[in-house]
Amino acid sequence: MSETINKKKQYLKVKKETPRKREAEARRVDFNPTYYLFNTDEADMQSDRCIKCPIDLIKGMSSEFSFCRTGCPLENKIPLWIEATKNGDIKKAFELSNETSPFPEILGMVCPHDTLCQGGCTISKTESGSVSIGAIEVYLNEQAFKMGLTPDYGQNVEKSGKKVAVIGSGPASMSCATFLLRAGVEVDMFEKSDRPGGLLTYGIPNFKIKKDVILRRFKWMQEAGMHLHLNSYINTPDQLKDMLDEYDAIFVGVGAPNGRGARMKNEEGHGVYQVMDILTHAQKGVFESFYENILKDKNVVVIGGGDSAMDAVRTSVRMEAKSVRCAYRRDADNMPGSAKERINAQEEGVIFEFYTAPKEVIVDKENFVKGLKCERTALGEPGDDGRRKLEVLEESDFEIECDVIILALGFDNHEFPWYSTAQINSGRWGEIIVDDDKRTSNKRIYAGGDGVRGADLAVTAAVDGRTAALNIIKDFGLTL
Ligand SMILES: Cc1cc2nc3c(=O)[nH]c(=O)nc-3n(C[C@H](O)[C@H](O)[C@H](O)COP(=O)(O)OP(=O)(O)OC[C@H]3O[C@@H](n4cnc5c(N)ncnc54)[C@H](O)[C@@H]3O)c2cc1C
Repeated sequence: MSETINKKKQYLKVKKETPRKREAEARRVDFNPTYYLFNTDEADMQSDRCIKCPIDLIKGMSSEFSFCRTGCPLENKIPLWIEATKNGDIKKAFELSNETSPFPEILGMVCPHDTLCQGGCTISKTESGSVSIGAIEVYLNEQAFKMGLTPDYGQNVEKSGKKVAVIGSGPASMSCATFLLRAGVEVDMFEKSDRPGGLLTYGIPNFKIKKDVILRRFKWMQEAGMHLHLNSYINTPDQLKDMLDEYDAIFVGVGAPNGRGARMKNEEGHGVYQVMDILTHAQKGVFESFYENILKDKNVVVIGGGDSAMDAVRTSVRMEAKSVRCAYRRDADNMPGSAKERINAQEEGVIFEFYTAPKEVIVDKENFVKGLKCERTALGEPGDDGRRKLEVLEESDFEIECDVIILALGFDNHEFPWYSTAQINSGRWGEIIVDDDKRTSNKRIYAGGDGVRGADLAVTAAVDGRTAALNIIKDFGLTL
């Protein structure tokens, strides 16, 4: 009991600290990471705040259970690797964190921790705040890599003779491949793009996750024997038929790539872009020196209030736009994107136009964008979903002058022609239908990630890939 009281004192005495960030003036001119990583002192201070609930608090409760763990879609063994980190046993912490997670140092950077593990953390409700779980997760893994440790990709496991084709190379596919490799399964990964990683590489900006952190994982997977086929678009029924002949199972991780429109007049005008066009273009600029800066000196308006809108406004700043505005129908409190990213954007000079609904793209004679006609909105009474209803105010039209409009309004699935020929059932929105094991209506084909869920999170894609892999391994009569 006295140890518990001491712990309480510790977490109240030391507050939650998040990684320090670079000054806005410095970060708005490059794509380098916004946040520094924890140093050893910071990681130790935060690790020491973990009260190991309920292991110390609820007698008889299994040490496998904890509230942060239930908040984590991967059910990572968080208190155990935090304890190992605190004890300076980085090797043990690394093994524990990589046991359940296919790429913890990546998810430690991109997960919305405050709504997942840190939201579940028992001390999150105190004034001192939760343990900084994500930052510790990144710290311990980066420390392990510095020590020369590499993740387990079944390097020492006997090959099983089973072969799986993985379509796509985003987090769902990376996760599936990771667990298959650990069981000695041969993996061929097919990616239509010129670089692997899906939205981790070409969607989420470098200032949120460094690209070499993603590519490092592929290097290790390839060294462990995975065959990565880039520029390989699986689009025709014949390609799928050949795959079914050649492989024992297939995993489909194709994402949800179709950006939604705003159904505005003149939306096809020159200077209107889908958010992924801009973000992919900008990420290519991180890799390739010859990229053309299409936003330089432009007045940019981004329409939307989610995380991809925040990525787009912050990217536009770095692409030297003359001005950057975000038009959103509701207010800051009702934005679906993270408040942290909105604050980062505001610090970097982005102007937010709240209560603003886009109505029409204004174009010149050559169909180039000249502005955006908008209407003012207001929030009314709560609807059935508890969210206050949106009202458009009469005769409230106004114009924002701009040369570029970026649509960040969400994503839809793409239904490939091979779904029906390979007997893969899909739903109304083109999403692949799977059972709890992530198996499609074709029992040799599994699927997961955004291609199944619609646009979601890297961590849920990772869970799906892991679930599919574990069931494929079971189908093959193998064990991990
Ligand atoms: C701008 C943006 C920012 C985001 N930020 C975050 C964040 O901060 N944190 C977070 O957790 N999530 C974030 N997300 C969501 C997250 O990136 C996705 O949920 C996750 O990447 C989905 O993984 P996936 O593997 O299902 O698909 P994807 O990452 O989309 O990967 C699918 C891959 O399959 C390839 N592919 C598709 N069809 C074929 C085919 N027929 N043949 C071969 N290859 C094919 C694609 O080229 C792509 O590489 C963000 C998303 C966007 C758009």
